[in-house]
Amino acid sequence: MSAPAKNDPAVKPANFLRTLIERELQEGVYAQRQWGGSPGDAGHHAAGAADPARVRLRFPPEPNGYLHIGHAKSICLNFGLARDFGGVCHLRFDDTNPEKEEQEYVDAIIEMVQWLGWDWHSDFGGAKATHLYYASNYFDFMYRAAEHLVERGLAYVDEQSAEAMRASRGDFTTPGTDSPWRGRSVAENLARLREMRAGNHADGSMVLRARIDMASPNINLRDPALYRIKRAHHHNTGDTWCIYPMYAFAHPIEDALENITHSICTLEFEDQRPWYDWLLARLIEGGLLQGPAPKQHEFGRLNLSYVITSKRKLKALVDEQIVDGWDDPRMPTLAGMRRRGYTPEAVRKFAEDTGASRTNIWVDYGVLDGALRADLEGKAGRAMAVMDPLPLKLTNWDELFGAGHLEPCSTPAHPQLPELGQRAFSLGPEVWVERDDFAEVPVKGFFRLFPGNKVRLKYGMVVECTGCEKDADGRVSAVLARVIPDTKSGTPGADAVKVKGTITWVGLHDGLAATFNLYNRLFTEAQPEAGGRDFRSVLNPASKRVVTGFVEQSLARAPADQRFQFERHGYFVTDRLDHRAGAPVFNRITGLRDSWAA
Ligand code: ATP
Ligand code: MG
Repeated sequence: MSAPAKNDPAVKPANFLRTLIERELQEGVYAQRQWGGSPGDAGHHAAGAADPARVRLRFPPEPNGYLHIGHAKSICLNFGLARDFGGVCHLRFDDTNPEKEEQEYVDAIIEMVQWLGWDWHSDFGGAKATHLYYASNYFDFMYRAAEHLVERGLAYVDEQSAEAMRASRGDFTTPGTDSPWRGRSVAENLARLREMRAGNHADGSMVLRARIDMASPNINLRDPALYRIKRAHHHNTGDTWCIYPMYAFAHPIEDALENITHSICTLEFEDQRPWYDWLLARLIEGGLLQGPAPKQHEFGRLNLSYVITSKRKLKALVDEQIVDGWDDPRMPTLAGMRRRGYTPEAVRKFAEDTGASRTNIWVDYGVLDGALRADLEGKAGRAMAVMDPLPLKLTNWDELFGAGHLEPCSTPAHPQLPELGQRAFSLGPEVWVERDDFAEVPVKGFFRLFPGNKVRLKYGMVVECTGCEKDADGRVSAVLARVIPDTKSGTPGADAVKVKGTITWVGLHDGLAATFNLYNRLFTEAQPEAGGRDFRSVLNPASKRVVTGFVEQSLARAPADQRFQFERHGYFVTDRLDHRAGAPVFNRITGLRDSWAA
């Protein structure tokens, strides 16, 4: 696997799944397994074809939306455990719900799992295999399993209305009651199921249900639905089927067919575990599947402050045009985060650092932001940008240097990475500075441009502010200053003039006009849905601000999707879609310091 290298520190954050697998490996649990691999392996189900001592995990998204940061957690957990224990992790599309699923989502999911740096190939002893699966490829098997359950009296076709079925299921305090169709003969059930499949019945007119116990204290065991009739075009199987398996029926079968060892899911599935075990035990005992069955393990969902992690709600943001698509840089989707400039390394570090526990957790966004800044600090090239530009005129320039003179400036692109090379630009008679770097009347502690004060133009010379120009409305339209001779950085005598302020700037003559997308949190509340509140009521109206300004000349050939630290401003990335040479577009990734802490 060309997976990311194992994180070095021996001490890893608490992760009960890692502890569990370590113990199982010591006990030789997998060595006793008889299975021979997965559909992608050579000799699937042929005993001995695969190394029996390997863990086999899976990430099973439903292709009904784009992946988000919660999925990244699950991806890194599963692929990370497989990597750490020399096993394999499958990418499997849980595509059993055709109305909501689309090829666009399948493609986007594949792209983002790869972006995160994982892959689903294995190469055990030279036997290469690709572990990319679709639940829909198992529809034939699932249907056979359904008939098998019917034949053993373990499933029946129920013709109650949806309301009647809901009412007869009971609740936590009331046991359910049997459907009038529960006692039909095997022959009758089999005939009805085949008619369902043949398309002889209307959508929703009947369902296939397991026959377990309507009085079970676990509602999931009160004859759960296995198949429904739904005439819907499927992205993979087209119009072959008009009945589709329910998630609860399909998922354990998918795991078993792929010889998954640990079926890791989030806590809300805990009550499904007895059903998961019931179903697989029946199919193994009936000879349809080989044992041992995979085991389900639940871990706590990741919740991130100021973020919602639900595909359905993220889809609402897209559909209602509250954001500009799934990859809007404000979205917590991986596509949005990539466009925003997040690195896969930072996302993986965050996933690792938050461990895995048996409780649902809320994590402060600052933790993710901190992982991001730590990663960017060491790799993003530095540059200067002015985002609220005001001209600064150096009034003695021509007199000192002669008209038309430009003073070359040069500095490393990154202080610790000489391989990133030098940045080159020049200082001329007029430069852009930030509007708020000038004050006619300074407040206490303001060391930047105000009449009578000296500052250094970073990488350039020391200048003394002499005043300003104003437009007809009385608004400052230019700052005036004089160059203090012989103060260019690095030139002899440069230290003769001590200044308290250093200003970033961009030359008027060589600066590049640029657009900056300044992003902020999408919600004003850390827990947007606290107390059942609609997340739409706490949208941040200032989540996106677009400004125009200038960047230094050295960025003229910056490609799309390249990250920079704009000195004093924060981290930015050239937009992967909108950025053009000659019309640069930068997205703000994050500031230089934690701005998330409450
Ligand atoms: P959503 O509610 O966003 O649709 P889901 O769980 O229904 O999420 P799936 O496509 O079924 O979406 O998810 C694939 C895997 O990702 C599942 O194993 C699920 O448990 C896991 N997952 C989804 N959200 C989170 C989260 N916030 N934290 C940890 N794991 C998650
Ligand atoms: Mg789901």
